[in-house]
Amino acid sequence: MKRALENLLGKDCIRENVVLAPYTTMQLGGPADLFVEVTTADALAHAVKTVRELDLPYFLLGYGANVVVGDAGFRGVVIRNAGQNIDFRGNRVTAESGAIVYPDLIEASVTRSLSGLEHYVGIPSTVGGALWQNLHFLSPAPARERTMFIEEVLEHADLITEENDLRRVDVDYFEFGYDYSILHRRDDIVLRATFRLTPAQEPDLRKIMAENLAWRALRHPPLDTEPSVGSIFKKIQGIGAGRLIDECGLKGASFGGIVVTHRHANIMVNQGGGTAADVQALVAYIQKEVAAQTGYYLETEIDFIGEFDPPTSGSPVFVPRPPGLITAEELAARRAT
Ligand SMILES: Cc1cc2nc3c(=O)[nH]c(=O)nc-3n(C[C@H](O)[C@H](O)[C@H](O)COP(=O)(O)OP(=O)(O)OC[C@H]3O[C@@H](n4cnc5c(N)ncnc54)[C@H](O)[C@@H]3O)c2cc1C
Repeated sequence: MKRALENLLGKDCIRENVVLAPYTTMQLGGPADLFVEVTTADALAHAVKTVRELDLPYFLLGYGANVVVGDAGFRGVVIRNAGQNIDFRGNRVTAESGAIVYPDLIEASVTRSLSGLEHYVGIPSTVGGALWQNLHFLSPAPARERTMFIEEVLEHADLITEENDLRRVDVDYFEFGYDYSILHRRDDIVLRATFRLTPAQEPDLRKIMAENLAWRALRHPPLDTEPSVGSIFKKIQGIGAGRLIDECGLKGASFGGIVVTHRHANIMVNQGGGTAADVQALVAYIQKEVAAQTGYYLETEIDFIGEFDPPTSGSPVFVPRPPGLITAEELAARRAT
């Protein structure tokens, strides 16, 4: 498998047995048999076409912010997308799909006084991952009256389709929904995306960014010290998954190195040495407890990739709440009184 790939992609860009943990925001997961890092959109298209023609199992990895990789790793080829070119033409920006949304793409846009992407400040994502997920965040403070989606500024994207055709598609092609795009059901790969932005005053954009970063800092564990994949469970219409978990008294529940953080009940943090087996045990435990106590079944919203060992056995332990922690809800309640 390695030799065939080397012949087509070149010797230098293929590595064997590469541990994937450092390439994911939760910092866990075993090795990929083969690992190819591509640094341009054209190289991405070539790599995808090649692994398909060789009929090799493969997975495309962006920032690794929405995936849990199994402890036994991935049997096949992981293509890591690091094509990051960003090109502005008037109010439009075209970014390769490995471009980092924040800071790279957002900073470049805001510095040019162009609005449309600033809402997604602080969210770890490549451009490709953002279209896969239909990246979203609340509209600006103080109203925060609706959820904004990256589809709102997408003009078109270049794909290598499931059928290996190079094709430009518009926004309707993606069938965007909440946490959903056509990329969930078709093996199309985004090579580049073009966003249509709107001229604005840079200080106004900076204000939105600062407010959104402050909002996030209150609710989300910082990635550099508390690695996570963001929300674990899908939202149930009208009822937050986190609220259900909190009401069931499950904050602090932990298997091995993985804990339901006291900051936000829908986020699990790797406290160090956490494994995918720990994540799976904790997910199953939360699902069982929430179903038993409330009747709701929580579905996961993250991608589970590769091979998994059996979930960690035994019962959870409960990690005490850190002294001095104030959650966003508690702060809001204090302000209201
Ligand atoms: C702390 C934290 C906070 C978060 N907050 C938010 C938030 O507020 N709003 C929100 O919407 N999300 C949020 N997320 C989730 C995450 O940031 C998004 O899902 C992000 O878009 C994932 O992008 P990625 O590049 O990391 O994709 P990856 O995790 O690397 O991959 C996810 C999926 O996308 C596919 N994919 C990646 N690139 C491409 C491509 N070029 N073409 C086709 N498919 C591709 C992968 O194959 C995989 O199936 C948060 C995550 C974390 C860790």
